[in-house]
Amino acid sequence: MKKLSLTSWILIALGAGLIFGIVAHNAFSAEFNDGLVKWLFQPIGSIFLRAITMLVVPIVLISLTYGAASVGDPKKLGRVGIKVVVLYMVTTAIAVTIALTLAAGIVRPGESITIPTDASFTPKEAPFIMDVFVDMIPKNPFQSMVEGSMLQIIFFALIVGIALAQIGKKSEPVMRILEVLNDMMMRVVEIVLWLAVPGVFALISKVFIEQGLDVLLPLLSYVLTLIAALLLQLALVYPALLTVIGRVSPVQFYKNMFPAMTVAFSTSSSNATLPVTMEVNETRNGVSSGIASFALPLGATINMDGTAIMQGVAAAFIAQVYNISLTIPDLVTVVLTASLASIGAAGVPGVGLITLSMVLISVNLPVEGIALIIGVDRLLDMMRTAVNITGDSAAAVVIAKSEGELNEKIFNQDNPDFNIK
Ligand code: ASP
Repeated sequence: MKKLSLTSWILIALGAGLIFGIVAHNAFSAEFNDGLVKWLFQPIGSIFLRAITMLVVPIVLISLTYGAASVGDPKKLGRVGIKVVVLYMVTTAIAVTIALTLAAGIVRPGESITIPTDASFTPKEAPFIMDVFVDMIPKNPFQSMVEGSMLQIIFFALIVGIALAQIGKKSEPVMRILEVLNDMMMRVVEIVLWLAVPGVFALISKVFIEQGLDVLLPLLSYVLTLIAALLLQLALVYPALLTVIGRVSPVQFYKNMFPAMTVAFSTSSSNATLPVTMEVNETRNGVSSGIASFALPLGATINMDGTAIMQGVAAAFIAQVYNISLTIPDLVTVVLTASLASIGAAGVPGVGLITLSMVLISVNLPVEGIALIIGVDRLLDMMRTAVNITGDSAAAVVIAKSEGELNEKIFNQDNPDFNIK
């Protein structure tokens, strides 16, 4: 019998976890399920989650410094930087526009729903947008690393990388060390990835045991509209980008991306998935390590198309439930704030719901509206996180292609798998 690849195992774990979780939720007693989660799924899931999260700070620091230094030429770095930021902004703005077109124009999922009187929600404070930019600059980079403040680490790594490139020949020994450290971290990712199979199974089972599918029913119209918008982004926007600008096959792209999307789906965190997103882009999509190291850590933090879609659909939904009509300028404001909010949100579970308050306030919608959708958010977070990291990767592939740094032989491999020995 042919040995199954790690990718196939991860896929099996996802499907099995889903089925097991739903069956257990409906068939077993609550106590038995509590025990299963407490003794089995919670610890196994946490071990996997902690093991990949453990890699995030060292990877961002090492690979981004190395990436920026090896892009070298400040002109090229500026050009790549502009491409990254423009692509991220444009895809996010398109994402919210799709969300609003569906939710405010075509489906109008909130119209048939009346407000439950007990809806209340005390929002955690969303960040003030100017603070997001000011806070990007670390006062003490070591503190940023200890606290895992992504944008600060990115800022520091970029500056150090640029400096290394500028001191030229003298930086060679450091560059060699960085290169080895970079390879070392990628190898660590490959080792940790073996935990993905039990980890994905445990994380998915836990969510479905605890939530079942029945939580989705009362809000089915909201859930389905959101899923449709996410699917449109996956089926139209990225394929168009990859075909027209990247001139590569979207089908192959999704084949390559699959393991990373699965990990994003089970962890609901683009940050935690970052080590896998990078590994997949380098070993399966054929993106050069310079571009991957530069674009992906940035993307995990500032580019969240799936989150922006949720915020667009949620804003329209809440407006409809409260019978408030959104004018065209309101809709434009939603597009702008949802795009900005996704920059301010860290790639961790549930954060999109917090920054949603920023979007609601910008168009005078009641923030308590968040209470309506909070119950289904855990499941939807899984899906939008998968879209978030797919958007980062599609941009990375297209940029790598435009810079002549996409290895299409790797991209087009027949049976892509990790090169895990
Ligand atoms: N969980 C999402 C992510 O990490 C963020 C969110 O939408 O809550 O990408």
